[in-house]
Amino acid sequence: MKTKTANKGYELPYPEEFRLHKPFCLECGKEMVYGRPDRKFCCPSCKNRYHNRSESASKRIKLRVQHILEKNYRILLTFLESGIRDVPLSSLTVMGFNPLYFTSSVKQKKCSICMCFDIIYHLTARNVYNMEFVNTLPK
Ligand SMILES: [Zn+2]
Repeated sequence: MKTKTANKGYELPYPEEFRLHKPFCLECGKEMVYGRPDRKFCCPSCKNRYHNRSESASKRIKLRVQHILEKNYRILLTFLESGIRDVPLSSLTVMGFNPLYFTSSVKQKKCSICMCFDIIYHLTARNVYNMEFVNTLPK
């Protein structure tokens, strides 16, 4: 709620400590001397620049993960199409397989059952085995 003051126009009813706090723009670092005390940006262009950058950082991460998953898939597919279902993990990692990335995983006592898209496999510290295609995906 706004209150009318004599010569200053409108003054927002924030507590004194908020009024004394002058925040800095998250984008350019400029001190913001007017506006709401909880504002984060000095101007709309700073706000846009900040959000565009964080969005593109998020896109880069997604693309990197997608790239790793697709590489893992191609490597698993190479073996699976040759009829090989059990492979030492070291043979896969030499080819660039990254065992930390999968599309889903269920931890078992002695292994993890992982999926890379429609390929399911058992993963231990040393081996990938029981590789096969799944016809139906878990819900
Ligand atoms: Zn700014």
